[in-house]
Amino acid sequence: LFITVEGGEGAGKSSAINAITNHVAAKGYKVVSTREPGGINIAEQIRAVILDRSNTAMDGRTEALLYAAARRQHLAEKVIPALQAGKAVICDRFIDSSLAYQGYARGLGIDAVFEINQFAIGDWMPDLTIYMDVRPEIGLARIQADQGREVNRLDVESMAFHERVREGYRQVMERFPNRVVQVDAEQTMDNVLEQIERILNQKVHR
Ligand code: C5P
Repeated sequence: LFITVEGGEGAGKSSAINAITNHVAAKGYKVVSTREPGGINIAEQIRAVILDRSNTAMDGRTEALLYAAARRQHLAEKVIPALQAGKAVICDRFIDSSLAYQGYARGLGIDAVFEINQFAIGDWMPDLTIYMDVRPEIGLARIQADQGREVNRLDVESMAFHERVREGYRQVMERFPNRVVQVDAEQTMDNVLEQIERILNQKVHR
């Protein structure tokens, strides 16, 4: 069972992942909860290059290829072995982040970015993707209130960029209507967790 969680900045992915992890564990799965680059040395090093705020010359295609490379390494070293051992893997961001951020928001094209990611992941697509939908002005306000959060290169992006990310996710949902399920992440935490419970009860059987 392979579940991914997606969303823009400040959507509340971390809380969602905790809830999903507990739910799936209660169903009897051994669970690996991870995020790209997932503590995988090679993937961590790639991500450090991507998020380094001094790398202002980063080309869009370079960024997309680096994300795909980091994704491949994390998949090969951590996700595939866990799935093959029968575990459930819950992953914070996966291919859809690249489709929304690099494909749509950076204008590389969802098709082009899907293609390089297919090379990276082969047939290892998620069984279920939970997309946490929040308007950027609300998500970014949540992040600003969170003092502990690390600052990264994305924080200098304009509101228009984050709007494009959201539109990108909307298009990803249209493209994969059976796999991707939307949660209204602007609701209270209790309500969001209820929405997630409902989805999991519908989609995850054991
Ligand atoms: O998941 P998290 O919010 O920690 O992601 C770290 C940063 O990487 C975020 O600013 C996110 O928007 C960015 N990102 C990106 N393209 C991806 C994946 C993540 O720009 N494909």
